[in-house]
Amino acid sequence: MNALPDNVKQAIAGWLQSGEIELFIGYEASSLPLQATPAFVRKAEDLDRLIWDATCENNLVSFLKQFRGKKVGLMVKGCDARALVGLMREGQLVRDNLRIVGVCCLGVVDAKRVAAAAGQAVEELDGRVTGTDVLTADQHLALSSVMHATCAACRHHNPEIYDILIGEPVADADDDPFDDIRAVEALGSAERWARFEHELSKCNLCFACRNVCPFCYCNTCFADKTMPRWFTATAEPKDIQFYQIIRTFHLAGRCVGCNACSRACPQGVDLRTMLDKLRLDVWELYQDDAGVNPQGHPPLTTYREDDDNSFVL
Ligand code: SF4
Ligand code: SF4
Ligand code: SF4
Repeated sequence: MNALPDNVKQAIAGWLQSGEIELFIGYEASSLPLQATPAFVRKAEDLDRLIWDATCENNLVSFLKQFRGKKVGLMVKGCDARALVGLMREGQLVRDNLRIVGVCCLGVVDAKRVAAAAGQAVEELDGRVTGTDVLTADQHLALSSVMHATCAACRHHNPEIYDILIGEPVADADDDPFDDIRAVEALGSAERWARFEHELSKCNLCFACRNVCPFCYCNTCFADKTMPRWFTATAEPKDIQFYQIIRTFHLAGRCVGCNACSRACPQGVDLRTMLDKLRLDVWELYQDDAGVNPQGHPPLTTYREDDDNSFVL
């Protein structure tokens, strides 16, 4: 567990004291093993609570929907910063209202993987992170061996935007980010449907994936509407599949692949494959990558007079 560097604390204290922000959202230690918790700081004297290490898993950008129009500071990893950029181009955030502490991120620890390696239940773990090492009562594990699967596949370790940066930039992989998806696309439709059915048979409709997603900001989600009622939240596969298909399509051209939803899923549902397929389709159709250019426009809300309209049947 690392306190924030002094220069970063001084910068945040300055923003709070000058009124540039009224709130800073960061991370602090929690009582849960190997998991920091979001911290909401309004006074400079509370900044010593804040930490940064591989236990800081949450995408804090999700909290900004509660502070629309307010001046807020926050910490972002590479994946989280893409969500900031995506929300800016949807007109949901104004850059001038934000003060951003970016962190170069090697990956965040998956407590379930540590527990499996230690042969213990997660709640029994006595673990801590030191740099790129994860220490339990009797084991010394490399972070790379127990990080979330989504971090092992990360290609955005460094934030796209920030006012002040913690850490040295991490080299991103330069291979095809959609390799895994192309392999799935190559399967026959029956095999792909079988995978989809099997994966969603694990879902218990807890809605954690929706709740942590920075882009699920509708005032009332279609899943909660009663007039009209779009779907019923039963354990029937058709209801679960309907929810996941609609949520996925609502994210077309918007999902930035931050993987906060996959990390939050208590059932280990592979949401990443569905969302990456969507991002690949958007890339191939529109050459658009949602978390990169804050001045760009979401492809599905953009109109061109010279569009060839070839999609119209
Ligand atoms: S996806 Fe990338 S930036 Fe995000 S937590 Fe994992 S390694 Fe860090
Ligand atoms: S759907 Fe998942 S990966 Fe996509 S932006 Fe939302 S939380 Fe991130
Ligand atoms: S977080 Fe997982 S279990 Fe919960 S609704 Fe989403 S996919 Fe289903």
